[in-house]
Amino acid sequence: MTERYARPEARIAAGDAMVTARGLVRDYESGGSVVHALRGIDMDVARGELLAVRGRSGSGKTTLLNLLGGLDQPTAGTVQVDGTQISGMSEDAAAHVRRNTIAFVFQTFGLIPILSAAENVEVPLRLVGADPRERDARVGELLELVGLAERAKHRPHELSGGEQQRVSIARALANRPRLLLADEPTGQLDSETGQRIMLLIRNVVRAEGVTAVVATHDPIMLDVADRVIELLDGELVTPTAVASGRVPRGD
Ligand code: ADP
Ligand code: MG
Repeated sequence: MTERYARPEARIAAGDAMVTARGLVRDYESGGSVVHALRGIDMDVARGELLAVRGRSGSGKTTLLNLLGGLDQPTAGTVQVDGTQISGMSEDAAAHVRRNTIAFVFQTFGLIPILSAAENVEVPLRLVGADPRERDARVGELLELVGLAERAKHRPHELSGGEQQRVSIARALANRPRLLLADEPTGQLDSETGQRIMLLIRNVVRAEGVTAVVATHDPIMLDVADRVIELLDGELVTPTAVASGRVPRGD
């Protein structure tokens, strides 16, 4: 293999970040040509930080989130989440880390249509074999947290888009992930609903002590995030992407 594909040794940075990415490259080969979706990303996310990743469509946001969450593997470079190197892991090992440490929220909500709101939130708890009583308590607590206690028995098609996204946020938090990755979570919502969802994400990040990375063009997130970084054609244009700790918001 050429040195382009060499993986540096796993080493946890002194800053003890929740996420550390070094030299991340992702090339996609399609129809005989190569798309350089990420061209060498170095970034840290501090514990408890709410980081927004902005950048126009095609700039590499989804590719970056997928790599940080172990849904995809880099062409080169490393990703560590909570001290574990997930780049280069087997699919099974990555799935294990995802189940226990990382949660995703997508633009399209991804709820199971035949299940109620409460049952959707319950799914990840069933997957890890949580005790039924603890499971019920956690589901109730989460629906309360996202303001949907009254809608617990409704199915997704009986809920508005904003409500469906609230359910998917509650579901993402069910197993107390360390890292929440949200890919354009307000992309299908009107701006007022989107604003409420972004504020909700900020509140749950604080309430649950989770670290979050949110890809978005939504201007409200630029206000509620602790820090904003910007991707342009697969490169970070923000010089402060690697930070040793919480960055002051400067306001
Ligand atoms: P964003 O989320 O910011 O819109 P993406 O990460 O989806 O950006 O895409 C970055 C670049 O990689 C784009 O040029 C896109 O067309 C390309 N790309 C993404 N996924 C694939 C894929 N599976 N195969 C080929 N090219 C891809
Ligand atoms: Mg995207």
